[in-house]
Amino acid sequence: MTNSSRRMSHLLARTLYLSFLLAAPLTMAACGGGAKADPPASPASPASHGIDQSAIDPSVMPGDDFFRYANGGWLKRTEIPPDRSSYGVWSILFDRAQQRTRELMEHASGQVGDYYATYMDEQAIEKKRLEPMRGRLAEIDALADKRALATWIGQHMRADVDALNMTNFHTDRLFGVWVAQNFNDPAHNVPYLLQGGLGLPDRDYYVQTGARMDGIRAAYRTHIAMVLKLAGIDKPEERAAAVFDLERRIANTHATRTESVDVHKANNPWTPDEFGRRAPGIDWKALLAGARLDASPTIIVWHPGAFRGTAALVQSVSMDAWKDYLKFHELDRYSRILPKAFADESFAFYGKTLSGTPQQQDRWKRAVNATNGALGEVVAQMYVAKYFPASAKTQLQEMVAAIVKAFDRRLDALTWMSPKTKASAKAKLATLKVGIGYPDSWRDFSKLQIVRADAVGNAERAELFDYEYRLQQLREAPDRAQWWLDPQTVNAVNLPIQNALNFPAAILEPPFYDSQASGAARYGSIGAIIGHEISHSFDDQGSQFDSTGRLANWWTAEDLAHFTAASAKLVAQYNAYMPFTDLHENGQLTLSENIADVAGLSAAYDAYHASGGTDDRTFFLSFGQTWQSKDREEVARQQVLTDGHALDEYRADTVRNLDAWYAPFDVKPGQKLHLAPEDRVRVW
Ligand SMILES: [Zn+2]
Repeated sequence: MTNSSRRMSHLLARTLYLSFLLAAPLTMAACGGGAKADPPASPASPASHGIDQSAIDPSVMPGDDFFRYANGGWLKRTEIPPDRSSYGVWSILFDRAQQRTRELMEHASGQVGDYYATYMDEQAIEKKRLEPMRGRLAEIDALADKRALATWIGQHMRADVDALNMTNFHTDRLFGVWVAQNFNDPAHNVPYLLQGGLGLPDRDYYVQTGARMDGIRAAYRTHIAMVLKLAGIDKPEERAAAVFDLERRIANTHATRTESVDVHKANNPWTPDEFGRRAPGIDWKALLAGARLDASPTIIVWHPGAFRGTAALVQSVSMDAWKDYLKFHELDRYSRILPKAFADESFAFYGKTLSGTPQQQDRWKRAVNATNGALGEVVAQMYVAKYFPASAKTQLQEMVAAIVKAFDRRLDALTWMSPKTKASAKAKLATLKVGIGYPDSWRDFSKLQIVRADAVGNAERAELFDYEYRLQQLREAPDRAQWWLDPQTVNAVNLPIQNALNFPAAILEPPFYDSQASGAARYGSIGAIIGHEISHSFDDQGSQFDSTGRLANWWTAEDLAHFTAASAKLVAQYNAYMPFTDLHENGQLTLSENIADVAGLSAAYDAYHASGGTDDRTFFLSFGQTWQSKDREEVARQQVLTDGHALDEYRADTVRNLDAWYAPFDVKPGQKLHLAPEDRVRVW
């Protein structure tokens, strides 16, 4: 579920959003939650288990608008807190994990306690003024030529993107690095290089026409000028214009979000020596040596067009413009841990203008996010020891086994799939590695140096420590048990190359998972989420990877033809949803996630019935309430444009594709969500 694109996913409708925020210096409130501020009425009060009856709006016909039937009462009484861009059941879980994590950090000694306390020490940060950035700005000023520029860019690349697991395609650094199993050679890890270099979330923000985007671009240019001015750099407006123009030209070379999720476009293994010929303009030898990737026999270039285009810009654009561009991004990236004037400016643009969030979230929430980003698994060990009982792990493993079995039966029953493809699918299901709660072993952070009162240094050292960990993985065999989400994260993810799933402890919580709730409520919520992630292994993306993670389509042409025809119906179903009069959902961009929603709900339904359950009404209502949420317009628009997940309300309406939904809610032809049986999409 999640957000992102293709296969992968994550569940959370917000994943992309959150990872974008953590990766970029953005401020925001991803989903921040409130400790002191009273959270608005929670979707399911902790005293009740299962369906929140008070959330239902009986004045809405479920067949017209299932999302508002299941959640209308809650929607009417709930306001989005001022420090957030969205709010809902996911936020409640997020708040809970965040509050718990905060307590752990406040009481921790050592690295975790030091990192958190240093982030919180605004006085020390204010007192240092711009001193933590001086060395780096001077380094940039001193770059003598394009070769030195290439070296510097390489030395500052980090493992800050993830093409297939988290589907995070954004980095404000010129290029992003992702280290994972080579999808052409499952025995080895490889560096994947991705496009980057933009301050705004995506190329669309630079190239789309219209008053709204014009307004964002004008505000961004002003933001660039403000940051340069705060740093005491002269002629800020003039320099900002050149920086923006350079970014716009970089954006013009970028692949679209839809292109980024096409693994076949991404399969470009280059040797280090080939870069100069394939993408002339950058001194690649210097850049790859700076990034310590020059000894890698193969590098997979995910976005060859952007590499060619960006390399040409390195050659043609002046050193002065490049230096201003680098200085702006360094300042912007660390703004939240620079003096207040920088942090406020960062929030004014990324929080208010870009995401529509009126109020900056409390500093402790930002400190929790940052500490999790730097020391995730150290915090995680404390979290699971306190909050994830062994009994939960056992019960959930049983549910997973039941849903896997339901999926296997669905594979057996498919009439359109050839026996050969079916055998491959079953092999993949049999070897799927499902991680519940936390990883089998923990990563060693003992060598990461955290220094009190050095917030910027801590952030940089943590990023570098992580990068070096990834470089080390290039020398090791791939590990199918590796986790890509921290256990204190409210999300879940399918790892296509590892043929594995991660369900962190923090999402295995009420109302999604409540050991006291009925089977109908559990299967309709966490069961559908588990089914969703499993199905990603077999969808349009999953079918590109075999059970070993090799990029090898194991489907026959006929299998694919059926799948494509069913997909086309689902694309049309989502294209017809109009969240705004001038914007419809993008059925193609969200296809993998929508297929996963249909398949996951279907498998969870089967597993629920196999367990002896018959309460279909509760099952579907529980699913509908899983999507209980509200978005501000800006962030909803951003999601529709850039995210692989449809808006939550349409995800709730997935139910219309299941025959079993119609009777308990008395859905009749003519109602808005009614689909004739032949129009209901059944992929699996
Ligand atoms: Zn997903």
